[in-house]
Amino acid sequence: MPMRYAHIDVVHQEVPGEISLCFSITGCPLRCMGCHSPHTWKAGSGKLLTAPHYQKLLQQYQGFASCILFMGGEWHPETLINYLKEARQLGYATCLYTGENSVAPMILQQLTYVKLGPWIPNLGGLNNTKTNQQFIEVSTGKKLNHLFIAHDKIKHRTSQ
Ligand code: SF4
Repeated sequence: MPMRYAHIDVVHQEVPGEISLCFSITGCPLRCMGCHSPHTWKAGSGKLLTAPHYQKLLQQYQGFASCILFMGGEWHPETLINYLKEARQLGYATCLYTGENSVAPMILQQLTYVKLGPWIPNLGGLNNTKTNQQFIEVSTGKKLNHLFIAHDKIKHRTSQ
């Protein structure tokens, strides 16, 4: 089955320090309770992310976005690996948000960052110190969750 997306957005907080072009891929099989985007679960829903369309977007956003972020899509390993490679060749950082606790080494090799772990409502997301989720810089293996907590505090302070 080919890769499809529910939406494509420019996002600023999901990958600290990067402006990311974010592809929300449909067909997530994990079905976490309390998932923020159950509309993306249905396999075969959304629009086709063809290679020419993807490549055109990479070119369009070059110099504006600095990172290509996939929200899911690890269930299309071959396509995902190719798309990540193409992004890196154009100088983008790459990131995958997955609800799994690990990803295949072939995918990991093409990632600058990875967010691991399912959504568990009472543990919260990356901006919660109790979270089960981990945001990792792949080259060093460093966990960078603190960047999300700091960002949240700054945002809170400036909004007062
Ligand atoms: S991994 Fe993400 S998209 Fe998939 S069910 Fe869990 S929270 Fe929803």
